[in-house]
Amino acid sequence: MTTKYIFVTGGVVSSLGKGLTSASIGMLLEHRGLRVRMQKLDPYINVDPGTMSPFQHGEVYVLDDGSETDLDLGHYERFTESPLTRDSNYTTGQIYQAVINKERRGEFLGKTVQVIPHITDEIKSVIRKLGEDDVDVVITEIGGTVGDIESQPFLEAIRQFSLDVGKENCLYIHLTLVPYLKAAGELKTKPTQHSVGQLREIGIQPHILICRTERSLSRGDREKIALFCNVPLEAVIEEKDKDFSIYEVPFSLVDNGLDELIVDQLGLDAGTLVLDDWHELMRRLRNPQHEISIAVVGKYAAHCDAYKSIYEALDHAGIANEAQVRIQPIQSEDIEREGPQRLLSGYDGVLVPGGFGERGIEGKVQAIEYARSKGIPFLGICLGMQCAVIEFARHVVGLAGAHSSEFDKDTPHPVICLLDEQKSITDKGGTMRLGAQPCRLAIDSKAYEGYGAEDISERHRHRYEFNNVYRTQFEAHGMKFVGTSPDGMLVEIVELAEHPWFVAVQFHPEFKSKPTLAQPLFAGFIEAAVQRRSTAADVAVPSDE
Ligand code: GLN
Repeated sequence: MTTKYIFVTGGVVSSLGKGLTSASIGMLLEHRGLRVRMQKLDPYINVDPGTMSPFQHGEVYVLDDGSETDLDLGHYERFTESPLTRDSNYTTGQIYQAVINKERRGEFLGKTVQVIPHITDEIKSVIRKLGEDDVDVVITEIGGTVGDIESQPFLEAIRQFSLDVGKENCLYIHLTLVPYLKAAGELKTKPTQHSVGQLREIGIQPHILICRTERSLSRGDREKIALFCNVPLEAVIEEKDKDFSIYEVPFSLVDNGLDELIVDQLGLDAGTLVLDDWHELMRRLRNPQHEISIAVVGKYAAHCDAYKSIYEALDHAGIANEAQVRIQPIQSEDIEREGPQRLLSGYDGVLVPGGFGERGIEGKVQAIEYARSKGIPFLGICLGMQCAVIEFARHVVGLAGAHSSEFDKDTPHPVICLLDEQKSITDKGGTMRLGAQPCRLAIDSKAYEGYGAEDISERHRHRYEFNNVYRTQFEAHGMKFVGTSPDGMLVEIVELAEHPWFVAVQFHPEFKSKPTLAQPLFAGFIEAAVQRRSTAADVAVPSDE
């Protein structure tokens, strides 16, 4: 069967949840027995988001092959089984880089190189790359909002695409906002009319409109949208805001007939929709048997998605343990000012995530000292592990002034130091230790209990590493090096012998967690937190502010 292509565009405003909607579509089609590939095209000029601040752009999501991608790919991986690779995320920067490299090699044979056709050809080729024989549907999400200058070559390319592969093989879905105007007491369809108008101006007539809205659309609203936007009434799909969980989104799309509509319009040979695993996860989400609170000690900015996958992985671990996990972000700098006792008492677990830069490091170290000395379940991730090592060095091993050479070049005890192969690197983009790396576990460990296997693979994104010079000294004081690279040279997981649950890892386990299959370390962490809550009746409930 020929591969079909779905394009998802967004209109009116950004942050409409195109990534989640695209992921939900992928999930629904897979649950109808179809083989799906997911892709995101980002109009910004950075070659990848690896060099962008997570506090502006959200987390950098790392794939097995080491590519640093947009956080929407995290939604794709959590919702679908679609294998993601470097080909799943392209930016304007990458597209231009490829075209310019071809030009330098003389591949355009003296022609003038132009946006149309050369840039658009390159865009079409990266879409087509995913349409292999065994793939039924490729879902390509176009980042940004219709009307942005940067999006234009991408929209032009997807317009041309249907001429290349046949109109019957392409489906354009436009996600739009239908705002509720309080003063008028009604939903407003005009912004949607305008954004569809803009699409039609460039030659794209969307087949389906998904309308994000706070309130239900009336039949009248839908009729108006259908008429003005030139789509059939049943192709105006409501997607109402979800307060409870993002995992409700696919169900709401099914209720509004979206999967059937897509299957019909593309003439897909699909099975019936079977959502048993997702019904089970919703049942667990709705009926938690426990309630726990986890402090995530990091660096925060308003509306930031810097720790997106960590929050999701905590939720998944909650689902696995039938526990509602309340996540409390705590500014590590506040701990420096106010002390850990005031900010961390009452939590059932402390998590210190990854990061870069010196700001807030001492607060993280204090948080870890608190969790270690009070026996509070602790999960440290990447920088979180490095801080756990620094804390242990200073307060248990007795190495005063111990630090990471990332933050203190002159420390007398560089317990975390640069990897040898990193020493000569000056370029920032794509130069860290990235992607899936094998790790061997000690059988007698919490990690092994969780994974149930000796050899595992997890994703990395860092330059610095535990300094092996200190290994025996640390071991003598009770730190266990329970996960290392198979040759034993790189420390990947540390645990503490005398602690109910203290695990810190150099990799990012959050990238491989799914709502239907929690990541083992997160699941173990939340299980330990649930246990602590049920045994420590005197644990005060933390305030919500
Ligand atoms: N900054 C640290 C390093 O480069 C940790 C990175 C991270 O937490 N992702 O090694």
